[in-house]
Amino acid sequence: MQLAQTCKYLAFILTLCSVASTAMAADRPNILFILADDLGYADVGFNGAKDIVTPNLDQLARQGTTFTRAYAAHPFCGPSRAGLLTGRYPHHYGAPFNLPERSGLGIPLQEVFIAQVLKDSGYLTGALGKWHLGEAPQFHPNRRGFDEFYGFLGGGHEYFPASYAQTNKGSLGEEFTYIPEYQLPIQHNGKAVVETEYMTDALSREAVAFVKKAADAKQPFFLYLAYNAPHTPLQAKAEDMAMFPDIKDSKRKTYAGMVYAVDRGVGRIVNALQQSGQLDNTLIVFTSDNGGKLTAGGNNYPLREGKGSVYEGGSRVPMLFHWPQKLPGNRRFEHPVLALDFYPSFAALAGARIPQGKVLDGKNIFPYLSANKNPRANEPYYVLRHRHGFSDAAVHKDQWKAVKVSATNWKLFDIENDISESHDLSLENKELLADMVRRMEMWSWSNTQPLWFSATEEGAHWRLQGMPRDDLTYDHDGNQRPQ
Ligand code: CA
Repeated sequence: MQLAQTCKYLAFILTLCSVASTAMAADRPNILFILADDLGYADVGFNGAKDIVTPNLDQLARQGTTFTRAYAAHPFCGPSRAGLLTGRYPHHYGAPFNLPERSGLGIPLQEVFIAQVLKDSGYLTGALGKWHLGEAPQFHPNRRGFDEFYGFLGGGHEYFPASYAQTNKGSLGEEFTYIPEYQLPIQHNGKAVVETEYMTDALSREAVAFVKKAADAKQPFFLYLAYNAPHTPLQAKAEDMAMFPDIKDSKRKTYAGMVYAVDRGVGRIVNALQQSGQLDNTLIVFTSDNGGKLTAGGNNYPLREGKGSVYEGGSRVPMLFHWPQKLPGNRRFEHPVLALDFYPSFAALAGARIPQGKVLDGKNIFPYLSANKNPRANEPYYVLRHRHGFSDAAVHKDQWKAVKVSATNWKLFDIENDISESHDLSLENKELLADMVRRMEMWSWSNTQPLWFSATEEGAHWRLQGMPRDDLTYDHDGNQRPQ
């Protein structure tokens, strides 16, 4: 009798728990993270494009929040994506360079990706498009927390099936036949598939299928939709380029068509979310992995330089959030937000448990967003890009940004009042500059030696020139040193 009563009581508690967890699950938002590749600051309508139109993104921007100071974790692809998915600066675990093709290397497995954290908390997780974080089986998206993967593992891909279908016969990893990385078969969860659509349309189609599947499964989802557009090769559909009769430059016109295809895709996905009743409680994030490449059609106006640079054009990117249920529309957030912030922010939204001992370099920005407060007042953040024999470096703090490129001295800019970084104020603010450089030097103490280089030559330079040359990088006494 006593046992039966205990059992009844336990059953009652279990029911309560299950009701509570169902309620919690119902509240948890879906997260649709859309990442464009090499998309410039001025390449979408909502961020000031004069020649490219992006009606679907612009509508999301109007109904949501736009960010004027959003920064990728690095000014180019691989390390930027690593920072985003691990929540840590890539320099801290040996990943400041792009992975070499088919090297068997990848982001260290002890770096638990945000996808794994969300999956463990009950999210259905998917990755679509470009990976670029390791091609060997243990680094595959399906092993890093993604239930579903459709796309390609390298750093880019051809867009039209006709341009890659003849090179490969629909198989993966043929040992004795070299297939250029950009022409490898598209894959679904490790198996080669025959794709027939233009790449951007194919990824949008898969995203639509994924959000429908998530609705049917009644599970919250995390979808990492990593379009390779508008990264090279510049290949657009004629109908998309036809939208831009006034653009005469052929690279820009093709690039515009590629961005327009992304926008078309976003429109389709938003419709699918609406039709499946998920739009109100889906956080949509749209951003880019680094700045536009100026020699490949990108435009970062009014920012200085572009992809690869530690000036603003390298890592300051367009960004919007759209979440009807929680975020009011027509808002602009003008404080700095980093790609490193997504990990803790998404984990907080999901109520997910971050693994014990996991180090994070960013912070949950939602409390700051609702209070319209600076998430990092008086807190510096860093950009470090190694080159041959020296490193380009930048340190931000509030409105200030210290920059060192090549073997020149550190410069100081007030980027709130000088967004184009054109007036060097270092001579008037020597102490402030010295303090910022010292703080960056302290940050660099926890950097590790790179685990790989994008090419043998890059590794040889690193070794021969005794990199990293911290003595050059963190020299702020105003003396010009030899390179
Ligand atoms: Ca990129």
